[in-house]
Amino acid sequence: MDLQRFPRHRLTFGDTPIEKLERLSSHLGGKVEIYAKREDCNSGLAFGGNKLRKLEYLIPQALEQGCDTLVTIGGIQSNHTRMVAAVAAKLGLACVLVQENWVDYSDAVYDRVGNIMMSRLMGADVRLVDQGFDIGFRRSWEEALEEVRRRGGKPYAIPAGASDHELGGLGYVGFAEEVRRQEAELGFRFDYIFVCAVTGSTQAGMVVGFAADGRADRVIGIDASATPDQTRAQVLRIARRTADMVGLERPIEDKDVVLDTRYAYPAYGLPSAETNEAIRTCARLEGMMTDPVYEGKSMQGMMDIISKGEIPAGSRVLYAHLGGVPAINAYSFLYRNG
Ligand SMILES: *Cc1c(COP(=O)(O)O)cnc(C)c1O
Repeated sequence: MDLQRFPRHRLTFGDTPIEKLERLSSHLGGKVEIYAKREDCNSGLAFGGNKLRKLEYLIPQALEQGCDTLVTIGGIQSNHTRMVAAVAAKLGLACVLVQENWVDYSDAVYDRVGNIMMSRLMGADVRLVDQGFDIGFRRSWEEALEEVRRRGGKPYAIPAGASDHELGGLGYVGFAEEVRRQEAELGFRFDYIFVCAVTGSTQAGMVVGFAADGRADRVIGIDASATPDQTRAQVLRIARRTADMVGLERPIEDKDVVLDTRYAYPAYGLPSAETNEAIRTCARLEGMMTDPVYEGKSMQGMMDIISKGEIPAGSRVLYAHLGGVPAINAYSFLYRNG
C-alpha cells in the first residue's frame, strides 16, 4: 500500500494523541479498555477535526490547479464548511459556503453561533439555502461554482464532508498508518475502532487503512445520518476507490464495511434522550466534550455496545473523536440545565 505518493499539505499539528478513558472504562464495567484518539484537537485552525485530515490531501490539487476559491456545501451547523473556511483563510483563498437546512431544529441562535459564526468571522461567503438533508450532489452547489467562474474566479469544488471526491478517502488511510505507529510504541493493538459515519470517507479511509493488517471489519461505523443505506453505499464506494488508488493488495468486500444503524434516531442532527445522556456521561466522567449531531451518537453507540457485552472482555477499543464540539452552541436550549 502506498499513501506516500500522494502529496499532503500539512494543516494539522501532527500525530493526534491517544488518551485512555479510565473513568468511562470502569463506568462501563471495567472489562473493556477504552481509549480516544483526539482528532478533535488536531489543529490550531478553528478548532480542527476530521475534515482537516481529509483536506490535507485535496489542497495540493487545488493549489496545483491554480484555484483561487474553495467552494463547498453542508448543513447550517456543518463542521466541514467551518474547516474549509479556516483552510481558505490560512492559504489566502476565497471561500464560498452553501449551507442548507439539513436539520429540523430551531434554537433561536441556530444560524448565528458555533460553526457558522466562525465561518463568517473567517471571511467566508456564507449562503443559506432552503434545502433538506442529502449527502449527495446538489444544484445550489453547482450554481455557486458557476457564479465563481462567471466573475472570473477559479473554483475548487469540495463535496459535502470532502467525501465523494477522488482524494477524500486518503486522509483516514493515513490515520490507520498513524495508529499502527502509535500501537508499536504503546506495545499493544486495538481490537476495535469506533467511528461516526455520515458522508462516509472517514470510515472508508479507515476500512482501507486497517484492511492492510486484517482489521477492516474491526472498524465499527456508527451511523449518524439516519439514511444508512445511502451512507453504507457511499462508504463502500469510497473504500473501493481509495483501495485502488493506494494499491491495497486485496479487494474491499461488502462485509468489510460494518455500519451500526441503531443510534441515529430520531434524525440527522437531532439527538435522542440517550444521545444526550451519553454526552453528559462522557463530559462528567472524562471532561471530554461530544456533540449532538455526530460524536454524541457514536459515543452513545460505543457505550451501549460495550454495556451490552457485545465487545469481548479484555478488548481494547479506540474511539475516534472526530471533533464537532462547536455545534453544541447551536443547541443551547437543550443543554440549558446541563
Ligand atoms: C463530518 C463529521 C463526521 C462524519 O464523518 P464523515 O466522513 O462525513 O462520515 C463525524 N463527526 C464529526 C464531528 C464530523 O464533523
